[in-house]
Amino acid sequence: MNFTLAILGRPNVGKSTLFNRLVGKRLAIVDDTPGVTRDRRAGEASLSDLRFNLFDTAGLEEGAEGTLEDRMRQQTQAALDDSDICIMLYDARQGVTPMDEHFAAWLRRAEKPVVLVANKCESHKAQDGIYEAYGLGLGEPIALSAEHGQGLAELYRALVDTLQENGIDPYAHEKEEEEKRRRNKEAEDAFEIEEGDMDYEFHDAEMDSEDEKPLRLAIVGRPNAGKSTLINYLTQQDRLITGPEAGLTRDSISVEWEWEGLPVRLFDTAGLRKKAKITDKLERLSANDTLRAIQFAEAVVLLLDAERGIEKQDLKIAEHIVNEGRAMIIALNKWDAVDDRLGTKKRLLDILTRSFPQLKGVKVVQFSALTGKGVQFMMPAIEEAYDLWNSRISTARFNEWLTDTLEKHSMPSVNGRRAKVRFGAQIKTRPPTFLMFSNRPDDIPESYKRYMENELVRDFGLPGTPIRFVFKKKD
Ligand code: GDP
Ligand code: GDP
Repeated sequence: MNFTLAILGRPNVGKSTLFNRLVGKRLAIVDDTPGVTRDRRAGEASLSDLRFNLFDTAGLEEGAEGTLEDRMRQQTQAALDDSDICIMLYDARQGVTPMDEHFAAWLRRAEKPVVLVANKCESHKAQDGIYEAYGLGLGEPIALSAEHGQGLAELYRALVDTLQENGIDPYAHEKEEEEKRRRNKEAEDAFEIEEGDMDYEFHDAEMDSEDEKPLRLAIVGRPNAGKSTLINYLTQQDRLITGPEAGLTRDSISVEWEWEGLPVRLFDTAGLRKKAKITDKLERLSANDTLRAIQFAEAVVLLLDAERGIEKQDLKIAEHIVNEGRAMIIALNKWDAVDDRLGTKKRLLDILTRSFPQLKGVKVVQFSALTGKGVQFMMPAIEEAYDLWNSRISTARFNEWLTDTLEKHSMPSVNGRRAKVRFGAQIKTRPPTFLMFSNRPDDIPESYKRYMENELVRDFGLPGTPIRFVFKKKD
């Protein structure tokens, strides 16, 4: 059975917008069960590989009986009763309002798993509103923009984690489907069992007993970089566990794969599509797909055509990866066709790091997806980048480092005044994110922030890892 998710929150925070995004083009039906559920919309929704029943509580009818507050309370109660998990949505641009507080207090008492979500976070104006919500006592808020589709990967992760913490299997549906497929296959194969099939079955059984989450990995690059060739090589080498199927919310595609016992969900924008016999070249160029694959992935391989060199499109894709703060590695493909290997590598990396200084230190592998030579170095590099991306630095160590770093090279003054940074802590991993308090956060020069970032990366051994700094005002 799928789980049921309810979106709760006061009017105008974006519940319908989020509802529409998650339900997508699928039929949104109006739940017309008599009684309190009257004002509710329900639909079948998906987020990456999650499938669930969704309802929101938008659309209170004008002039219906009872005060607005009363009806909201009723609605929310009904929604809570009927759901396995809920999202409490608020508008981060407006900050936490008394009505949000009211909702939160109520949700804290109800014994339902809650994911707190800050909406309208596409603008910087939302920053303070995000921090305010820590005070609601519902845990760390997930920053989202329902309208722009940002933060969905974080929402996905939070939902999966919260469900699992509460003993609900987020993939129950997927497993049922898998089981159905397995049984069908068994029936089909009953008459002609071949060695390969035996293997396949065995593998399936093994996978079922493991509930390790797959590593979400995207292979991105411009058309003709060799993505399909690489994916074909990888999946044929080590076995495709399930065939290409719809993976992301709408139209990108993922495939389950396994590398030396590690389950991997590969997100690809061209290769699998080609396999699915969609040959429209234009479709393969879709920048949107690339962005979406990056957003849903934890780790990303930027695949470059070493023979052709770097083009504008490569830089655009690199920019997306950097902006999304994903664990990444760079892979130079078609190495078999490159003569001046040393020179080529240097040239490619120079161009990349000139545009994105953050990429200094990113792991680079080179191989031929065509022959497979060198491809075996890709996954170990990804694992390394992924581990660093999950790094956690204790508050004590961070503050020690902060004191030293501020002393070693003092902050330049702006308009005759010098900002002070007092203390801070790592507030997130994936990517490592640090919150620091300053009396004048707006007066910390960008160049100084870069200095701090470089020092942090060096002192804690995080080469090639995206780092996020957040400065918050405190006198
Ligand atoms: P509901 O009453 O909670 O269902 O809220 P709606 O979904 O109707 O959204 C209320 C308003 O907020 C609408 O004008 C939306 O376009 C807007 N909105 C929703 N999500 C976002 C967002 O992520 N960013 C911004 N800027 N506006 C949003
Ligand atoms: P995609 O558009 O990124 O999926 O790229 P393809 O996998 O379709 O590859 C584009 C072209 O590059 C094809 O003709 C491949 O045979 C070729 N190609 C891919 N990998 C290699 C490689 O490692 N060496 C060489 N020489 N050619 C490659």
